[in-house]
Amino acid sequence: YPHVFMLMHPHSLSLTHVFGNPTTTLTVWVDPIPYDTPKPSGHTRFVCVSDTHSRTDGVQMPYGDVLLHTGDFTELGLPSEVKKFNDWLGSLPYEFKVVIAGNHELTFDKDFMSELVKQDYYRFPSVSKLKPEDFDDVQSLLSNCLYLQDSDVTVKGFRIYGTPWTPWFNGWGFNLPRGQSLLDKWNMIPEGIDILMTHGPPLGFRDWVPKELQRVGCVELLNTVQRRVRPKLHAFGGIHEGYGIMTDGYTTFINASTCTVSFQPTNPPIVFDLPNPSSS
Ligand code: 5GP
Ligand code: MN
Ligand code: MN
Repeated sequence: YPHVFMLMHPHSLSLTHVFGNPTTTLTVWVDPIPYDTPKPSGHTRFVCVSDTHSRTDGVQMPYGDVLLHTGDFTELGLPSEVKKFNDWLGSLPYEFKVVIAGNHELTFDKDFMSELVKQDYYRFPSVSKLKPEDFDDVQSLLSNCLYLQDSDVTVKGFRIYGTPWTPWFNGWGFNLPRGQSLLDKWNMIPEGIDILMTHGPPLGFRDWVPKELQRVGCVELLNTVQRRVRPKLHAFGGIHEGYGIMTDGYTTFINASTCTVSFQPTNPPIVFDLPNPSSS
């Protein structure tokens, strides 16, 4: 495989919207494994959640080894919300907890914040009111997890890479235009990782938005996952309506959005077992 991908369709395709009918797309659904399924020996159990949006109170958490949270753990990234989320993480028994940000974690996106205070004071009043010293260090409030942002970590022998970027939509945090801007971020993902965590889906996998009759996943992310990086597990959320599991026969795609499209935290966490990497 080439080390990075070139943009494949610089002129031929509008990347603002990608239309498609879900019934004509090759679809392989996967049923979640029940929580009481015994973990096979030599496996690690991952518990996937996403898009909890400060609404974790009623969420029942199943047994597992490693928690993966793929962003939108708050409404606005307010420090008070981050603290509450971190306290919740602290109450959970998983050996490792790995977290990325989503577009709602506004204060984690430093470029977004410097633009917000300049231009858009009334859009997110409670965020605009923050002083720089209130959020400069907001990442350090996440003391009960491993926070990834265009970076990776190895836990229990699994190399996990996490990145928060999503295609531009209404100008939230970590938004980038489709095409080269996002591809530049995906090209930072190393080959040889076991698990990829992104906030949003790749094109065609749990990315259907019924109210718009559109697939909104990122086509550059799809190419990166299927043709270059090939992780065993791609965990994401972002499109709440896409909650569920699919496979392409090699990579398992899990949209673990806990909140529904009406922001009710009713979708259960998804557990997934992976064979432990042979020690090298
Ligand atoms: P959130 O605001 O939590 O990031 O996303 C909530 C909902 O907004 C999603 O479930 C989906 O309905 C919609 N949404 C998020 N991102 C996009 C996007 O890129 N395109 C479209 N059409 N809808 C989106
Ligand atoms: Mn969300
Ligand atoms: Mn989101």
